[in-house]
Amino acid sequence: MRILDDIYDIFGNYATSPPAEPAEVGKGFIYASELSFIARHTLDSPSCETGGDLFGYWTHEGYPIVAYVIGPGKKANRQVTFFNQDEAYLVEAGRALNREHGLQHIGNWHSHHRLGLASPSAHDSATVKRAIENYRLAQFFLVISSVRQTFSPFERTASVNGFLYRAGQEKPIEMEWLVLPGESPIRAVFDEARPELVARPKTKVAAYSDDLRLASFDEPEEVAFQDSSYWLNDEANQRLLKAFLDELEKRYAEAKPTQEDDGTVSVEFSVEARRVRLNFGAAFPQSAPTLTLDDEPLPNLPDWSATLSVEALLDFVANALQPIFSNATAQS
Ligand SMILES: [Zn+2]
Repeated sequence: MRILDDIYDIFGNYATSPPAEPAEVGKGFIYASELSFIARHTLDSPSCETGGDLFGYWTHEGYPIVAYVIGPGKKANRQVTFFNQDEAYLVEAGRALNREHGLQHIGNWHSHHRLGLASPSAHDSATVKRAIENYRLAQFFLVISSVRQTFSPFERTASVNGFLYRAGQEKPIEMEWLVLPGESPIRAVFDEARPELVARPKTKVAAYSDDLRLASFDEPEEVAFQDSSYWLNDEANQRLLKAFLDELEKRYAEAKPTQEDDGTVSVEFSVEARRVRLNFGAAFPQSAPTLTLDDEPLPNLPDWSATLSVEALLDFVANALQPIFSNATAQS
């Protein structure tokens, strides 16, 4: 009988049992599609926490293999500082994944607020340790993600970090990712068979922070979620938005781009201490942008020519604000 031991080389060649001393850094497998799923859900939700659960297997060393990830259920409680999964959804999805694919619930994931670190809070650690004790688990895998925002919203990236908690160990093992190429075989089959159990992220393309801890040499290749339909997925339009922001700042005050929960982009600035928000909806530039003033939608917007240029955008904003701020827009 031959034992297939080559595969252990990557972990350091202890073939039969986990090392007595916990490794400082462990290695967790995850399919590129599932890492992307977490990253895109995280990018969907820059201003409140989101999360979900991890399904898969364990290696001989007791390291996780993440084969399928679920997002938040419809009744999940998503707040600025915490996330609670919809338990009925977790049970239903977990049962289906177990009965149809033999997957087990190996952990969960949630995002931290934009300014938060992608590492567990004291409360997170206490919660996991209590679960390990209450359910008599050997271990539990916790993944924490967060959004890194650079100047513009389309440059936002996601950090996705894994932490392995083991019974009786004070500190979690920090994990590096071994990214399995492409789409998880469970993803295609399950999503087609059980569409009602899939919370799809709206963000189409995962962008990762450069602090993503990879044990493999390959960058996680993006799986085919490309959607070029939104105007800001075009680089020329990204430059146009930057130029527009520069001009806005000259006329009004600091203009800040943000991403809405539905993946579209808004620009926020203030005029005479009132907050103006210009949203480029999914159908922009074919449809006019919308404007809110102190979160109230502005009625009677000027005509939008559907011609995309910095001047057209500036005119649109100036004409929309004219009736309200007769002084502020006169200089244009
Ligand atoms: Zn947390």
